[in-house]
Amino acid sequence: MIRSFARLAPRMAHGNSLFSRAAAHLASAFTVTVLAAPLLVAATFSTPGLAMEPIRTSGTVLPLPKPDFVLSLPSEPVLMTLPVARPDLNDILPKSTATISEMVALQTGQQSTREDTYKLKSGEGLATLLVRAGFTKDDTAAAITEIVGRASLRALPIGLEVRATEHGFAFTTKNGRDVYAIRDPEQGWIAFTAIRPVERYVAYAQGVIEDSIYRAASQSDIPDAALAEYIRVMGFSVDFQREVRGGDAFELLYEQAVDGITGALVETRLHYAGLMLSGKQLGYYRFDHEGSRVGWYDRDGNSAARTLIRTPISGARLSSSYGMRKHPISGYNRMHKGVDFAARTGTPIIAAGSGVIMKSGWLGSYGRYVKIRHNSTYSTAYAHMSRIANGITPGARVAQGEVIGYVGSSGRSTGPHLHYEIIVNNRKVNPMTVSLPTGEKIPPELLDVFEERVELVEAEVAATGSLHFAAMDLLPSDLAAE
Ligand SMILES: [Zn+2]
Repeated sequence: MIRSFARLAPRMAHGNSLFSRAAAHLASAFTVTVLAAPLLVAATFSTPGLAMEPIRTSGTVLPLPKPDFVLSLPSEPVLMTLPVARPDLNDILPKSTATISEMVALQTGQQSTREDTYKLKSGEGLATLLVRAGFTKDDTAAAITEIVGRASLRALPIGLEVRATEHGFAFTTKNGRDVYAIRDPEQGWIAFTAIRPVERYVAYAQGVIEDSIYRAASQSDIPDAALAEYIRVMGFSVDFQREVRGGDAFELLYEQAVDGITGALVETRLHYAGLMLSGKQLGYYRFDHEGSRVGWYDRDGNSAARTLIRTPISGARLSSSYGMRKHPISGYNRMHKGVDFAARTGTPIIAAGSGVIMKSGWLGSYGRYVKIRHNSTYSTAYAHMSRIANGITPGARVAQGEVIGYVGSSGRSTGPHLHYEIIVNNRKVNPMTVSLPTGEKIPPELLDVFEERVELVEAEVAATGSLHFAAMDLLPSDLAAE
């Protein structure tokens, strides 16, 4: 499968300059395809049960549907709780224009002779800035009266850019909307909010790992945010520093929202993460539950999240594995009932899973030690810390990924490292090989919606002509390798 993968020629995007440029300097082993496909975008923003767009595979650049940009912002929760669906703000609010002059002409028919940008200085309010921009005190007062209620004028950030002509001005609020104030020759000052046009693109990237995923990804222009989420999602199942080998391959499908006026990146969202290791294929799909929670699941709806993280420390080297070894201090052969990760003193150690702190403090040869009980079956323990994090005291609850302490060499230890144990039914097991259960599954009532989402992602990937390796059905012969 890897062999045929290597035959893939670099594929160029259809006509979109942003991604064409990105795709142009890709290494030959690498492919990024940008689709002008509205499928996923439509699905992402539509409510479950609404009809989906038909699948399009033509290379024509189609106009993108206008998703409700406001709903994509986490700071805008208000619209979700109303009993009656509100009309889309995009249908109510006007669209921002590239310049103030354009909006002035559109709204009042007046022509502007100048257009300048003023930055809000430290200690300055909007009124002072407007006077500096040449408006009279009366105009300033009238304009501000109209704006109050559309933007919090007390919370304007220093450096805010206010764009002005002699007939009006505008600025962008932190939730990405534009507030305009324009002087109409008949009505006087009017103020309104406009929505900045956002263009969404779905991009697909795949590559073969030569030494590390980080290097492969950095050669490929995959956005940092998409890569970080990819590593996090895969990190439950794969140890990128130890399990990934040369020739392994990865793929991502991600979406980017770009401000239609400035071209600035507004948002990056990973939709699909795939990885093909020797003998193991993993494919995870993003799924937004009702509300704000995002989960990652395989195509059967099993969570990508594991109950426990195998490597609760980043950037560390496995310095001693589980099993019989000659003890570094006593020199006797002894069973090493954990794994050691060598890392610099002070490297943060995270909770491998959510749970309750059972022990926290000095414990003989373990030095500074923390033990977490995750459920009736699983516990984890962490030893030799230089410091235990604040609040990590017996009885405290911790969330998976929360920092519980820092690497050190306390107790019976020859150098800074984390000694990590996974305890199953009171028995210490090998953290690297113990099979760990996955987190929750997709609730049965949401499975249909999830399956539609999976099909959309797969249609997107298939439309690139790529081998869709990580999520495709395995042949019995492939399974034999596991
Ligand atoms: Zn150890």
